This record gives sequence, structure tokens and C-alpha cells, in this order.
Amino acid sequence: MTDYDVICIGAGPTGLATAIEARRAGMRALVLDKGCLCNSIYHYPVNMVFFTTPELLEIGDLPLVSPNEKPTRIEALKYYRKAAEHYQLEGWIVSGYRTMHEQEALYLQGRTSAEVASRVALHGARGSVTDAPPGQSAHNYGLAVDIEGPDRAKIIELARAIGFGTVSWDPSHIEWPNWHTLVGR
Ligand SMILES: Cc1cc2nc3c(=O)[nH]c(=O)nc-3n(C[C@H](O)[C@H](O)[C@H](O)COP(=O)(O)OP(=O)(O)OC[C@H]3O[C@@H](n4cnc5c(N)ncnc54)[C@H](O)[C@@H]3O)c2cc1C
Repeated sequence: MTDYDVICIGAGPTGLATAIEARRAGMRALVLDKGCLCNSIYHYPVNMVFFTTPELLEIGDLPLVSPNEKPTRIEALKYYRKAAEHYQLEGWIVSGYRTMHEQEALYLQGRTSAEVASRVALHGARGSVTDAPPGQSAHNYGLAVDIEGPDRAKIIELARAIGFGTVSWDPSHIEWPNWHTLVGR
């Protein structure tokens, strides 16, 4: 943490834009979020359409190209993810401890094979949601965090250094109901 010039709390459009501008100014920036990249937008209604035109949503001088007059939630999510990748933002985007209620909300999103394929096609690995009902996720016991970032080798190295045993961005990665066998508890 001490190696960064700027740490942006929140990987929404504002945090990403700030980190991008810091990076363009030659600074090293880290983006932290309690959820996924553009966590707020990710949780908007699935078919949400923005009320502003694309150019007002742009960051880092990157064009947001949409066939629609107003971009959709999906288009915005893809755009911001690409922008973060383009500028190789360092992310430490974490879904950490989840209450049983939060786990239930995630679980109720459902997850059949078709849903996984569809969500992953739209969102990449981030599209996957949990298979574990409340009480059956390592997140409910503070035993798991989800970490994201472009330099995966570095993240794995850091995760190992602070004692994490498993690192996975596999789109088919699931929270097995018998997660405790994975963590040996
Ligand atoms: C239905 C709807 C439609 C909208 N349409 C438009 C539109 O057309 N045009 C427009 O300009 N705006 C629109 N907005 C508003 C839009 O969401 C914001 O403009 C935009 O998301 C703001 O970006 P932000 O980065 O400032 O905040 P957010 O997108 O809210 O990002 C904040 C981030 O901070 C994270 N965070 C919060 N607290 C913590 C914490 N304690 N620790 C770590 N991370 C944390 C969150 O998880 C989130 O990822 C709309 C909003 C809604 C709900």
C-alpha cells in the first residue's frame, strides 16, 4: 500500500477516471472496491438504460460507442471494464465478508449452467454468481475474498504472501456447498 501515490476507494466511473488521470500524470494508482468493478452499475436493474448520452459517460478520453442514443447498463459495464484494462489500472477489487442476507441476495440471482454461460458472455468472469446459499459460503465466515486486477501473477503473489490458499478467476468457479473441505475446516 505504501508504494502507491493515489488510492481510489470505489471502482465506479469516478474512481476509475481518477485513477486513469493519476496514471496519465505518471503516478501509481490503486483502485479498491467493496464489490466488483462498477459495483453500483452492476447492481442496477438488468435492462437499465442511462439517461445521458454516451459522451457524458466517457472516461480517459476513450469513446463509448453505442448503437443506441443512450447506452445500456451492459454497454457501460463493458466500456468501464475495457477502460480499466486499457489503462492497466491496478485493482484490488474485493468482495469480502458477506452477511447471510447479502449471501441470500446473491444466491437468489440463480445460477444454472445457461445462466453462467450467459452472464460470463456479458460480464466475463465477473458475471459468475454464487452457488452457495446463506451459511454455505466461505464469505459468510470471513474466510474468502474475491480479488481482481490486470496483473494476476502479482495478485497471486500478494495473496500467497498474506496467507490465501486459493486464487481463482475461472468463470466456472463456484462456491461449493462443501467449501469447508477446501479450507480444511
Ligand atoms: C437507475 C440509475 C440510472 C442512472 N443513470 C445515469 C445516467 O444516465 N447518467 C449519469 O451520469 N448517471 C446516472 N446514474 C448515476 C450513476 O450511477 C452515477 O453517475 C455513477 O455511477 C457515479 O459514479 P461514481 O463512481 O461516482 O459512483 P458509483 O458508481 O456509485 O461507484 C461507487 C463505488 O464505490 C464503491 N464503494 C462504496 N463504498 C465503499 C467502501 N466503503 N469501500 C469500498 N468501496 C466502496 C461501490 O461499490 C461502487 O463501486 C444513474 C443511477 C441510477 C441508479
